[in-house]
Amino acid sequence: MTVVATSLFGQLDRSLHDHLGDLVRQAELGDDPTALDLARTELPKMVAALRSLLDEHSPDEHGRCPTCRSRRFSRRLPSPCRAYLTAHLCLVIAQDAHPRARHVRAAG
Ligand SMILES: [Zn+2]
Repeated sequence: MTVVATSLFGQLDRSLHDHLGDLVRQAELGDDPTALDLARTELPKMVAALRSLLDEHSPDEHGRCPTCRSRRFSRRLPSPCRAYLTAHLCLVIAQDAHPRARHVRAAG
């Protein structure tokens, strides 16, 4: 039973990562119509998926994640969870750190 569950999870995980890899390859290597199609069809899906995940990890009024919170860590100082911080780091901080690099790379 455990082997079946692990195998199913592995297959789901691989399928998801394959899909994400395909999207990145199409965005990086595809022609302009392909990139435009990705922006209009896949980007909204990605944003919806990310918003759904972030909804589960949004800090409550005490700054704690209701999904990741556990009794063991409840006495620690309140802070957003790793999932929330990682999304913020990847999407906002990384972009702010290299706004021109992204633009030049996209244009070149
Ligand atoms: Zn969380």
